[in-house]
Amino acid sequence: MSHCLLELESVAHAYGERQALQDFSLSVDQGQRVGILGPNGAGKSTLFKVLSGLLEPQAGTMRYRGQVIAVGEPSFRARCGVVFQSASLDELLTPLENLIVSGGFYGQSGADLQQRSKQLLKTMGLEERQHDQVGELSGGLKRRVELARALVHRPEILLLDEPTTGLDELQYRRFWADLDRLREEEGISVLLVTHRPDEAERCDHLVFLNEGRTVACGSPDVLKAQVTDSVLAVTTEAVEALTAFLEVQGIQGDWAGDRVVFSSTAGHALIPRLVESLPAGAVQSVALRQPDLGDVFVAVTGRRLEEES
Ligand code: ADP
Ligand code: MG
Repeated sequence: MSHCLLELESVAHAYGERQALQDFSLSVDQGQRVGILGPNGAGKSTLFKVLSGLLEPQAGTMRYRGQVIAVGEPSFRARCGVVFQSASLDELLTPLENLIVSGGFYGQSGADLQQRSKQLLKTMGLEERQHDQVGELSGGLKRRVELARALVHRPEILLLDEPTTGLDELQYRRFWADLDRLREEEGISVLLVTHRPDEAERCDHLVFLNEGRTVACGSPDVLKAQVTDSVLAVTTEAVEALTAFLEVQGIQGDWAGDRVVFSSTAGHALIPRLVESLPAGAVQSVALRQPDLGDVFVAVTGRRLEEES
């Protein structure tokens, strides 16, 4: 028996002439976290709209637990918890009311719904704010209300479109702690769309999407093994001297003001030579790090994740 929950096969969508998603295939297993990583315009939201039933793909097949599903099919929608890229809570209602209204859409009601909603808000650390207006909550708390709301009808799979947009570092970590706990306690699968390398790092399986096509896929470790060069960042007032040094080394640097970022096979061995080549005291900072998934994306596509299309 297969543990495959969701399967997409050769899904495609175009807006008029613009092909936003082409020949896209993917599978999500029970309890698996699958991430779609790509820059602006890659087709992530288009894919997300197809998955959440807002958009009919022009080609391809979707299956859930082996059954072909049509767009917006109620039996499939009942299995999904969706968090859209932009906030979609009713700001005039309280968190508890938002959850109850959403549960109602899925045919739930009564004491059961009340209890489940309160429990979810409690586990998300929102108990004390459950009766305040959503409009009064911080961005991070709102995002957690959205996550709680997506769970109220006990979905098997969560679909998240850039779920941590606008969160600060602490809120980001809390959101992920919530997700990880839910996965452990309820065995929920997660399919998320992101342009953040650190968020992609938390997934079991990744798909790199660029201009509507899959350009690479695999676990974060397997993908990262493709790039072994270290990444160095140097800040210096001796811009010309450093430019000359890099040129001699045959290194292409990415300058922004007095800061340059480049990759090198020489790793930390390059640092003393680099510092020596510049006037004394001219280096403000040197940082070396291992490549992250953003660097891998650049290596595969030649494009940065932060880039506009
Ligand atoms: P992402 O979410 O990865 O930024 P989108 O799926 O939103 O990418 O967009 C993919 C491509 O389709 C982009 O080139 C975008 O400009 C185009 N696109 C998205 N929505 C529409 C639309 N409603 N009409 C026309 N073109 C669109
Ligand atoms: Mg998007």
